[in-house]
Amino acid sequence: MYLKCLKLRQFRNYRDCLVNFEAPKTILVGNNAQGKSNLLEAVELLSTLKSHRSGRDREMVLEDASMGQIQALLERAYGSVELGLTLRSQGRRTVALNRESLRRQLDFLGILNAVQFSSLDLDLVRGSPERRRNWLDSILTQLEPIYAYILQQYNQVLRQRNALLKTIRKQEEERTPEGVISKQPQTELALWDAQLATAGSRVTRRRARVLQRLAPLAQSWHSSISGKTELLEVTYAPNVNLEKDDPEAVQQAFLDKLHHRRFPEQRQGITLVGPHRDDVEFTINQTPARSYGSQGQQRTLVLALKLAELKLIEEVVGEPPLLLLDDVLAELDPNRQNQLLDAIQDRFQTLITTTHLGAFDAQWLNSSQILSVQAGQ
Ligand code: ATP
Ligand code: MG
Repeated sequence: MYLKCLKLRQFRNYRDCLVNFEAPKTILVGNNAQGKSNLLEAVELLSTLKSHRSGRDREMVLEDASMGQIQALLERAYGSVELGLTLRSQGRRTVALNRESLRRQLDFLGILNAVQFSSLDLDLVRGSPERRRNWLDSILTQLEPIYAYILQQYNQVLRQRNALLKTIRKQEEERTPEGVISKQPQTELALWDAQLATAGSRVTRRRARVLQRLAPLAQSWHSSISGKTELLEVTYAPNVNLEKDDPEAVQQAFLDKLHHRRFPEQRQGITLVGPHRDDVEFTINQTPARSYGSQGQQRTLVLALKLAELKLIEEVVGEPPLLLLDDVLAELDPNRQNQLLDAIQDRFQTLITTTHLGAFDAQWLNSSQILSVQAGQ
């Protein structure tokens, strides 16, 4: 797929800006705080309707404006598509395809596919489990847009169940020795348990499946970048046991664990069981990369994961996704830069931000469109 042009109106520090992409690689160069990452963020929003920075629409609308817009013209194998997203400082965002507004945001997902690789991702291995879950979630949202809905449902059930657990805890705290305790919250809790198990098993099984497909791709990239001396293994570490990929078995394991953790959950007033506690584990030559891997090894690992992500999306969608490289190239040594360049060739349209062109070797510069970004222009 190819992003032909992007139009930003009152989005972040852009008042009105039209960008035509004229080469498979575009380098956005400029000083700090000029709008380079903002532009990439706009593309990310069109891809997943989520930004890895802030969740709030009003922060993304230009400071003195009430509404912001991102529009794009995308070439897909099946024809061109016009994408439109309108953000409001107050009120709901709206999305449009080919200038027709969509009732369901879900129908907007999976049209522009993009892999985001920013300097923050270099921390994916060492960072919190939540980072790794968000990473898997964003891949799944692109591959299976319905997943966004499944995850939202799970989070809703989780919030409501947590509220109930807090009520139960409060009731316990306020109970006098001779006081009678109402049975109602406990009956309600059993209902939420069933819903949590159903929604949770959908999330966790999908995450495990996508990781299973991603792992061999990452392993092969990693082996080639590291000169075949290191064996990377990527495994899913679900909070609820996933021995069989069978919905009923997983739901039952979920319910059993909830039963087992009943008292600590009520004491803490929080749900302790479910995919909001899942993680991903990385080992290099059978030692955990998180605690033993050097900075360079962790970088190679993240690069391999991102390349695997590109490949997987390409395989599933049938077209190469975009690659958004935010401030990351300068962080990679020449060997890793070249591996990346070889891997993307001109097949994956790539947008790259940098503060100085000196970080790139001639090969990159000669084959790229170079745009200078200054104060939202
Ligand atoms: P760096 O090289 O430091 O990463 P950058 O060019 O990537 O810089 P961006 O993150 O794209 O910078 O842009 C940051 C600028 O955008 C900041 O000056 C910030 O104040 C401004 N900005 C962010 N949101 C808004 C908004 N809603 N309205 C106006 N300006 C905004
Ligand atoms: Mg930036």
